[in-house]
Amino acid sequence: MSERQVMTRDEFIEDLRKRLRENFAMEIETATPNELFVAIGQIVRASYADSWHRTRQRYLEHKQKQSYYFSIEFLPGRMLKSNLLSLGMLDMVRDTVEEFGFDFDDVLRVENDMALGNGGLGRLASCFLDCLASRELPGNGNGIRYDYGLFKQQFVDGYQVELPDAWLKSGNVWEVRRESESVNVHFGGNVYMKQMPDGSLKPVAENERILKAVPYDTGVVGYENDTVNTLRLWSVEIPASEEGKYRSIEERRMVEDLTAVLYPDDSNEQGRLTRLTQEYFFVSAGIQSIIRYYKKTKMPISRINEYIAIHINDTHPALCVPEMMRILLDEFDLSWEKAWGLTVSMMSYTNHTIMQEALEKWPVSMVKYHLPRMYQIIEEIDRRFVTNLQGLYPDDLIQRTRIIQGDQIHMANLSIIGSHSTNGVAKLHSDLLKSVVLHDFYVLYPERFNNKTNGITQRRWLQLSNEPLAGLLDETIGTSWRKEPTDLQMLMNYYDDDRLLELLADTKHKNKVRLAKYIKETCNIEVNPNAIFDVQIKRLHAYKRQLLNLLHIVKCYLDLKDDPNRNFVPRVWIFGAKAAPSYTYAKSIIKAINETATLINNDPDIGDKMKIVFLPNYNVSLAEIIIPAADVSEQISLATKEASGTSNMKLMANGAVTMATMDGANVEIRDYVGADNIYVFGLTEEEVYRYYEKGDYSAQAIYDQDPVVRRVLNAFVDGTIPNIQREGQEIFDSLLKYNDEFFLLKDFEPYCKVQEQVSQDYLDQTKWRKMSLTNTAKSGIFSADYTVMKYAEDIWQIAPVNLHKEKRN
Ligand SMILES: *Cc1c(COP(=O)(O)O)cnc(C)c1O
Repeated sequence: MSERQVMTRDEFIEDLRKRLRENFAMEIETATPNELFVAIGQIVRASYADSWHRTRQRYLEHKQKQSYYFSIEFLPGRMLKSNLLSLGMLDMVRDTVEEFGFDFDDVLRVENDMALGNGGLGRLASCFLDCLASRELPGNGNGIRYDYGLFKQQFVDGYQVELPDAWLKSGNVWEVRRESESVNVHFGGNVYMKQMPDGSLKPVAENERILKAVPYDTGVVGYENDTVNTLRLWSVEIPASEEGKYRSIEERRMVEDLTAVLYPDDSNEQGRLTRLTQEYFFVSAGIQSIIRYYKKTKMPISRINEYIAIHINDTHPALCVPEMMRILLDEFDLSWEKAWGLTVSMMSYTNHTIMQEALEKWPVSMVKYHLPRMYQIIEEIDRRFVTNLQGLYPDDLIQRTRIIQGDQIHMANLSIIGSHSTNGVAKLHSDLLKSVVLHDFYVLYPERFNNKTNGITQRRWLQLSNEPLAGLLDETIGTSWRKEPTDLQMLMNYYDDDRLLELLADTKHKNKVRLAKYIKETCNIEVNPNAIFDVQIKRLHAYKRQLLNLLHIVKCYLDLKDDPNRNFVPRVWIFGAKAAPSYTYAKSIIKAINETATLINNDPDIGDKMKIVFLPNYNVSLAEIIIPAADVSEQISLATKEASGTSNMKLMANGAVTMATMDGANVEIRDYVGADNIYVFGLTEEEVYRYYEKGDYSAQAIYDQDPVVRRVLNAFVDGTIPNIQREGQEIFDSLLKYNDEFFLLKDFEPYCKVQEQVSQDYLDQTKWRKMSLTNTAKSGIFSADYTVMKYAEDIWQIAPVNLHKEKRN
């Protein structure tokens, strides 16, 4: 299919034989999937090594402006299959491996998910890197190489149990350790200003703690284009010069723990000091390595902003601002004004949440003590900010927007003040930033605000994960959609084509059978692939309202118990979600879902009509199995709370119909597919804000008035759902005693109503298939290819570099 075949079948077999012999003293015929994975991984890495090198050289020689995406999380998942796809080797390698009698999927499953992220934020960063390379854009990632990824989740008696994810235990074929590009990062000590012979003041540091940051680089392979960008992840070590200071194992362990674990929470700050230290560690290492690279271009420091763009993904890397200032001031001796101008022009920032508790703040005392030079610079940024605005703006506005307020440092404020662009991640979210959450800043810097609606890579989330659908699309509309996802809209030409609708339904059925098999193997639950597969997969959080889904399930159950012969369209509810280990309430909801599942799945009155499946250990690889099999996509967060969402986009591309509140990117999905191809319900943004203003929401009133709500809620405390004495009460109280923070009870009735509509519509298979087709057809616009192209143009000012053409010339 591809003219870019880098390797023939015979060459591949020869290479494979050689590597199996060298590494394992084995033949292909006697190898296991483990050895095959390692050997194939090496072959793949070797086959892009040249392009990787050439990409770097090309960027350097042509002084190409590059962007660096700083993110404390990356969530790429497995990489073998996606690299094979990008290199045009997937079909050849699969066929060859299967000729030798192996199941290719067994080989793929050997790879541990690279899970250095919690959820959407980290997955977005990984989609962006994939898309940057695939659009030939010079953009790289910068983050932390955690020894342990996000915890592995198991259920014991229905409770979440967290196990460590030692993903590096059997090695990582994709990474390259670059010892020679290590840098030192300084912590603590005292910094004082010393007068230089020329009269100027320079900071001098004493008694600092020095740690070595070692980069591990992973190639990010562009789709069929010879571009290979770099994801650089930093790991901590003790520098040789400091060895003598760490004598005991405990002391060494303390240091090494810095990059040991990912904080398993994407919405609350925790781990405090280690987290702050992690943030400075990867920021400082990343910026130093950028500066080292820039020196190689021999360009003057005064023009660095023409060659470097730095992106602050959420506030975790906000120290990029003072760290860049430190280097420009202390190492290049630039004036404050000059350094500030360059810094602001290089930096840009994405806001990912409007939830107050998720906006990062650090105690002044902590930053002062552990990062003294950072503190001095932040203090000066803050001082100048206030001075410059005094007299121009009301004092209360200045006080609300300054960086240091009382004894806290506001990282979002630092990010906005220190950058030239602040973007939200969906239209509604960006509008809320301007009108409510960051309104004060919008008054100060209207030109800095913009929207970049999130996206997903169709390569992983359609081409790779849903091969039956991808193949059918190729046969129907040609293959151009693989490079230009908006071409998926050609599918609309088949809206009335019964044969195609039938074929689409066949692919969905195939995927449902595959998922049913997986469910049987992992949970020992039999599910009927003819039932509606209703999917909610995302981090477990109160605002995402998995509980609303559960309330509806309980209602269906009680209705069926009352009248087992009532009409009911069989449905399988599928959940995937991890709760932060310290988030008790979220864990209680997991327990409640699991106990409800056990109750319903084993009730002979219910039989096949309802099945509840909570698949453990939700991660990228699990998402890849679930999403292609989904009929219904649950995107039911309270309006204003989900900044964008991206699982909504993945599910839509795979032909699931969305059950949507008007939140995040759901609004844009509704605009593209049209109101007839989505199920919208629930409070709107305006209604939610009205409740906040008036303070007149009363969950108790709803409970008192609505017998259905009463009956469903009582099931949590009256023993109807067994084994949840504590959790049931906690949930019950959250809704009534604590007045239902996320307005579930208000949205409950409309939710049940559209769910009933879903069931009726599903019976009309032609109607359903047309909705499903429309969702796939309109999903191309949510390709992160387009999102990163807009970042490239509007924010980073980086341009594509066509290495493929150059290579052929
Ligand atoms: C896409 C994705 C997410 C984000 O899901 P939302 O529903 O948008 O929060 C989280 N985790 C994984 C593994 C994903 O693939």
